[in-house]
Amino acid sequence: MGENEFKYVQEAFDTNWIAPAGPSIPLFEKSLKDYFHVGAVAAVHSGTAALHLALVNLDVKAGDYVICQSITFAASANPIVYQGATPVFVDSETDTWNISPESLKEALEDLSQKDIKPKAVIVVHLYGMPAKMAELESICAEYDVPIIEDAAEAAGSNYLGKKCGGFGRMSVISFNGNKIITTSGGGALMSNDWHLIEHARFLSTQAKDNAPHYQHSHIGYNYRMSNVSASIGRGQMEVLDERVRKRRSNFDFYHTNLDQLPGISFLDEPYGHYSNRWLTTIMVDPAKTNGITREHIRIALEASNIESRPLWKPLHLQPVFREFPYYGGKVSETLFQNGLCLPSGSNLTDSNLKRVVQVIKETLSSKL
Ligand SMILES: *Cc1c(COP(=O)(O)O)cnc(C)c1O
Repeated sequence: MGENEFKYVQEAFDTNWIAPAGPSIPLFEKSLKDYFHVGAVAAVHSGTAALHLALVNLDVKAGDYVICQSITFAASANPIVYQGATPVFVDSETDTWNISPESLKEALEDLSQKDIKPKAVIVVHLYGMPAKMAELESICAEYDVPIIEDAAEAAGSNYLGKKCGGFGRMSVISFNGNKIITTSGGGALMSNDWHLIEHARFLSTQAKDNAPHYQHSHIGYNYRMSNVSASIGRGQMEVLDERVRKRRSNFDFYHTNLDQLPGISFLDEPYGHYSNRWLTTIMVDPAKTNGITREHIRIALEASNIESRPLWKPLHLQPVFREFPYYGGKVSETLFQNGLCLPSGSNLTDSNLKRVVQVIKETLSSKL
């Protein structure tokens, strides 16, 4: 937490606004609107809820198809299944790890041959690295399919100078506890079309029609953010840029100390891509490390009480999504096989970072 979160929460208690209504919610939404340069924002319970509302807004229902990047957190795709629709997974490209424009085109072309027009394409900025929005936008425009931007991991990233979270027909941000800023749990749906956001707000508060009694002509959801969470969010927005600087300096430290080691590589920023470096990730190539794998490094870190994790397991390989269509090759699968997320918190000290580097170097110089 920064300096002012507690002050704003105290205000919520002092004024007794402990509800999914209250003065912090529009103030938080205004700060998001200004930061991400979007027309309108609805603050909700979670990023997952925001994605769900995005799909409801596009009238995604049983029999529909929605395209989604395969290597991502399951929450990117779960709401497609909540709606009874079919997710179609697409492989990544090697230079951003995000949805491959080539494989996306292949998927759209093949679906169009089968007379299927997907309702949306969900684009993710994995670990904060912006996807190639210009290419993706032009492909999606060609097939007339709207983009939903899953910017859950990318608050503070930008692409060609434009903030991630400001692309697509609608975009989604998460304030879950593991993200770069947090409201303990929370999310937001953003768009330049304020009608969509107005409707999402209506749906997120149980879809109550304008009447003195409880009158409903839509199925609603209880997804609205609480005034207490929004109070935390107001404080967090004041420190977002500082958090991005810290995360990027974590990346720089690891990069400076590990990049020259044979078999270890980092994801560079392609021209025009500015990553918040939410998590620092490395790729381990066992052909160049005398057989030391990602898993050897992970286990050695664990033995030193340091938590690290493999990259997201591609969704087309997950038991629960296995039956759904997939387009592409083995890029995301290889990322999962060889990739590792290093400790990346905003509160890591220099000595924490040095310890991580030391264990990785020792592991790489050990004999199998
Ligand atoms: C965290 C995350 C979500 C879901 O956000 P929650 O606020 O945890 O529901 C969705 N997509 C991606 C890529 C995420 O990392």
